[in-house]
Amino acid sequence: MSGRFLSIGECMVELSQAGAGLLRKGFAGDTLNTAWYARACLPADWSVEYFTALGDEAMSDEMIAFYKQAGIGTEFIRRIKGKAPGLYMISLKDGERSFSYWRDNSAARQLAADAELLREAIEACDVIYFSGITLAILSRNDADTLLAEVRRAKAAGKIVAFDPNIRPRLWSGYDVMHATISEGARASSLVLPSFDDEATHFGDVSIAATIQRYRTLGATDVVVKNGAEGATLSFDGVESFVPAEKVEQVVDTTSAGDSFNGAFLARYLETKDAPAAAAFAAKVAARVVSEHGALVAWEKLGIDKT
Ligand code: ADP
Repeated sequence: MSGRFLSIGECMVELSQAGAGLLRKGFAGDTLNTAWYARACLPADWSVEYFTALGDEAMSDEMIAFYKQAGIGTEFIRRIKGKAPGLYMISLKDGERSFSYWRDNSAARQLAADAELLREAIEACDVIYFSGITLAILSRNDADTLLAEVRRAKAAGKIVAFDPNIRPRLWSGYDVMHATISEGARASSLVLPSFDDEATHFGDVSIAATIQRYRTLGATDVVVKNGAEGATLSFDGVESFVPAEKVEQVVDTTSAGDSFNGAFLARYLETKDAPAAAAFAAKVAARVVSEHGALVAWEKLGIDKT
């Protein structure tokens, strides 16, 4: 089976320490990370497209070149005059990482402002992926536009996959965060939450409660990730549990969930075997947490394609 996978969201410039007075530049963002791992795991007859908005300056040019180099399609990326990508910096103090963000005015905040382009991209693709972060960075009006378009895709029978990726700091308040994330899940066929986020922010007392809540909202399928504890799946109402892989030394958990999502979707689209896809995704995520950075080089992932 071939097809087109579309990931919608924001990628930022990442600055991390690279020795005294030096910074290393990279690119990362939850939905781009998932596109990166989906591209790594899908066979060549699938295309992976990234939907975002960028500026018209040098850093946006570099990002586009980076996506192309990775085999990620840029056909639906809009360039906005006078804008630039968002930026974040990772600081290390006594082994603890902390993050500073400059993203309030990023081009990606307007990614859904061109409703026609959004519709064109979604109609051209078979599988749509977005996250709670994608919804959080949009104006209310643009979030409604995106939700309406993914609802159309779901109604047309496409797989619409959503990771709530709950980040309270990106939202103006708890009520709007709860309501919009619930709308995102309602517009989706497959929800891929992380249990610790759901327990903290939605008060779920168990994984079963998370599954129940998202199924009640209208998602047919749910994959609840729970770090080193493994993942619990509910597909068409059939539950299964897939343990995590043992990791010798966890180096950096950035992108664990994003890589799991990309690898899971890639394998699921090919085989329609959800537990086997989750076992494959657990292997990929285990390699990702064993390395530094959000985007681990594909040759380090040990992927055997179907
Ligand atoms: P998120 O990054 O969204 O919080 P999780 O922490 O639940 O996501 O991790 C996603 C997946 O990554 C898990 O389902 C598991 O397969 C893998 N993973 C994460 N942490 C570990 C770990 N310490 N050991 C092994 N696998 C892990």
